[in-house]
Amino acid sequence: MNYSELIKQAETQYAEKFCEIDDIALFNQKKVLDAFIDCRVSARHFMPSTGYGYGDDGRDKLSELFAKTFGTESALVSPHFASGTHTISVALFGVLKPGDKMLVLTGTPYDTLYKAIFGKDVGSLADYNISVDCVPLENGLPNCNAIEKKLKNENYRALYIQRSPGYERRKGFSIEDIRRLISFAGKFSDSPILIDNCYGEFVEKLEPAEVGANLIMGSLIKNPGGALAPTGGYVAGDKSLVDKIAMRLTAPGVGSEIGSYEHSYRNFYQGLFVAPHVVAQARKGGLLIAAVMEKLGYKVFPSAEDDAGDIVRVVDFDDKNKMISFCRAVQASSPIDGFALPEPWDMPGYEDKVIMAAGTFVQGSSIELSADAPVRPPYSLYIQGGITYEHTKIALTRCLESFEIR
Ligand SMILES: *Cc1c(COP(=O)(O)O)cnc(C)c1O
Repeated sequence: MNYSELIKQAETQYAEKFCEIDDIALFNQKKVLDAFIDCRVSARHFMPSTGYGYGDDGRDKLSELFAKTFGTESALVSPHFASGTHTISVALFGVLKPGDKMLVLTGTPYDTLYKAIFGKDVGSLADYNISVDCVPLENGLPNCNAIEKKLKNENYRALYIQRSPGYERRKGFSIEDIRRLISFAGKFSDSPILIDNCYGEFVEKLEPAEVGANLIMGSLIKNPGGALAPTGGYVAGDKSLVDKIAMRLTAPGVGSEIGSYEHSYRNFYQGLFVAPHVVAQARKGGLLIAAVMEKLGYKVFPSAEDDAGDIVRVVDFDDKNKMISFCRAVQASSPIDGFALPEPWDMPGYEDKVIMAAGTFVQGSSIELSADAPVRPPYSLYIQGGITYEHTKIALTRCLESFEIR
């Protein structure tokens, strides 16, 4: 079969959607550029620091830059956030105290956060007598009646929204969805709204803090690191909240006064600078995958017609071998470890075996082209990232060819 013809057709059919993605990238690039200029970033901010890192201007300027970009009063950006889960966990421990309650408006939080919130004897929020209620989603949407009831009956210290679906089968919430949800919750509560913003940065022209959220949190090996940041996370929002979180990241009374990094900060700056473009590359790759796979009769979620609220597409293969061969072809089309053959394995914390293609420059980076799946019907493969659209196009062609030579 001539896959390059199929790809061309998909590009033509969805030309308008490809243009919309570019338009958002242009808007966000300008936003980021203006933030750099306003913050007077200069080469001295890339300088490494050691020890306590007192007076580390590079660290402080980076936080200022994220705050400016995301339209918040304050931010804390650090290579010492080890992952998105760590960032969110530190943030929750910063904002909540024993005896406090938090309400999750968007169903059950992402798998990796589950232990941090509900785990037993692992130092979870529950272990510290911080309780978290979750309002289940209704047809993939927040259940406003149930939220209203909860907010009228309980006093919550914070409200929590997860933007991207994780492994749930729903769309990522749009900024408009989030704006409505925040204003609805605001009728019954004045508690701060915290957003798990993972995979959402630069997907739209506005970020959640620009539509009323008090705090956004995310990982630097996803969107805002632009595939250049080697590790880290960020929180951005109201200064009173960010300050409390800084006290948890380092130590009470010390907060963001310390924290050194002996490697240059340049990649964090440059990563943020290219992030709007890189996110657009990933979104275009996702759109192409969705369009082409749908043409071949596969079910894709969200479909090419629908705007994904993030950078992830899920393809149902309904066939174990096809899914595995597609996943292996993603790995074989990767710049790093392209020779490796992914095998389904018993990954800690998952019930089914999981297969993963992750031939990435930064370990586990999912802004780079990657794919993963629990090996169970309907054999859905989660495909995300892609630093260059061209790479995704090449990888997709090879994936499709892999069906023929299998
Ligand atoms: C990726 C992600 C996180 C954080 O996961 P890490 O792997 O720890 O970085 C949290 N929430 C959502 C929705 C995510 O997609």
